[in-house]
Parts: sequence; structure tokens; C-alpha cells
Amino acid sequence: MTVSLLGATEIRRLAAELDVTPTKKLGQNFVVDANTVRKIVQAASVRPGERVVEIGPGLGSLTLAILETGAAVTAVEIDHRLAARLPQTAAEHGVPDGALTVVDADAMRVTELPGEPTVLVANLPYNVSVPVLLHFLETFPALERGVVMVQAEVAERLAAKPGSKIYGAPSVKAAWYGPWRLTGNVSRQVFWPVPNVDSLLVGFHRDADPRGDEIERRRTFEIVDAAFNQRRKMLRQALSGVFGGSAAASEALEAAGVAPTARGEDLTVDDYHRIARVAPVAA
Ligand code: SAM
Repeated sequence: MTVSLLGATEIRRLAAELDVTPTKKLGQNFVVDANTVRKIVQAASVRPGERVVEIGPGLGSLTLAILETGAAVTAVEIDHRLAARLPQTAAEHGVPDGALTVVDADAMRVTELPGEPTVLVANLPYNVSVPVLLHFLETFPALERGVVMVQAEVAERLAAKPGSKIYGAPSVKAAWYGPWRLTGNVSRQVFWPVPNVDSLLVGFHRDADPRGDEIERRRTFEIVDAAFNQRRKMLRQALSGVFGGSAAASEALEAAGVAPTARGEDLTVDDYHRIARVAPVAA
């Protein structure tokens, strides 16, 4: 049985049937173009037999494109009307029984995913894209790789390298899990409704070995937040609150091989990790 994709007319018809008017609050911009959803799935190199998790399947455009490859999907949708309709849409489009599991929940709160997905593919709700990505990477270590569509500035920030203006706390936290790179752009015209921002695809691969344990990760992220909260200040000042004074901060930085006069935007995730390891965060 082959899976067929949703077209623009059907998407609007489905929304009308469900009485769904896309809301900004839930970042509801539905993709109405089959080429775009196929491009996202290709960028993620989804293979038959893999289990993919999709955050925010909406009316199902991207979901069906993932299922078309022969992969299975666990889809987490917060809008009950959309979550309830999705299995029927899948059946109507030739999706075999058992290939799709819908979780009717807020993705920010899920702690278990049926099927242990290894790939993340999503057109993310823009207002929660970074926190939801970090929540998934932290909570589901089985996730090996992924491609997501996000607001262009967010994608650039996730993939940014030290020294650039856009390098920030999300860049370092994302890099904790592995490398990220921009994998393509998307026209505004493929969405309904058309958003007032540009979108980009960004992909990641999780490092084979975890960089550190959960205690180290938390400590590192705390230091990262402090460094970027005052990103114009030298680290010995920006981290003085975390280490109980600028002298103690300088000492910790030097022990980690980082110049106390450096700024947060100069450091790699490895630098932050070393700082976290040489000096425990004050309780
Ligand atoms: N994947 C669909 C597509 O490409 O057409 C819809 C993408 S739309 C940008 C984002 C979707 O995420 C919407 O269906 C919205 O209801 C859902 N959503 C928003 N916040 C969510 C959350 N916290 N947890 C799960 N789904 C959420």
C-alpha cells in the first residue's frame, strides 16, 4: 500500500471540518506543499523501519511524508482536535495499521515515548522550539539524529560557532549533545497561514559518547546561562555570582585553562564543560 500526501485544498478542508483556526499561541503554521515535506524527510535521511518522533504533527502533512518512506512515527500533538483526527487521516492516506502512534500531550512535558524513536523530525512550533529541542535531547538519549524546521534566526543560533554575534546559550547547550548544521531553506509561501518570519532547516547528530553525566550537564548549563546573561562582561565578572566572587571565578577559569578576561561568546562547549568540572557550582 502506498501512502499519499496531503494537498493544500485537503488541509484547509480538514481544518474547516475540525473547526481549527490556526493560532499563533500554538505556532500553528501548516505546511501545504508536498515538495517541502519530502525535502525535510530527505534532509533527515529517514529510512524504512526506523522509528521517528514528530513534535506537533498538526493536520499531518509532514507525518505522511515520513510514513511514506516506510518509517514508523510517534507524533506528539498538544491540540486535542488535531491529535484525535490524525489516525483517521493516516488511514485514509494508506498508512498501514500500527505505523503511527499519536500522543495527545504537551511535548514540553512528555517523559516517555512509545517505540523508542531514534530520529526527530519536526516543523516545530516557533514559540517553544529551543526549549522543546533541549527537553527532547535531554530526556530521550535514544534520539541519534534529527532535522527540524525553525525560525531562521533560531536555526542560525543553534548552528552558530564561538566568536559570532549570534552564538549564545542555545548554541552551547545544543552543542553539548553533538554537532548541528543548517540543511536548507524554506519559502514562507509553503505555509498556511503565511508566517511573518523566515524558516530554515537545521539538523543534528548526537555524539556517540555522552560528553558528561547529568550533574556535569546541569553545572555546565548553569555556567553557560550566567556567562551569556552578561555576555558583554569578562567571564571573571559574569561568573562571579556562580563562583562566589570574581577572585574565585578567576581561579576556576584559570584552572580550566580559560582566560578570566575572555567573554562567554569566545568559549566552546568543551571550555564550559572544563570550567564546570574544575569548580563545582556553589550550592
Ligand atoms: N507538522 C505540521 C506541519 O508541518 O504542517 C504542523 C506544524 S505547526 C508549525 C506546529 C504544531 O505543533 C501545531 O500542530 C501545534 O498545535 C503543535 N504544538 C504547539 N505547541 C506544542 C507542544 N507544546 N507540544 C506538542 N505540540 C505542540
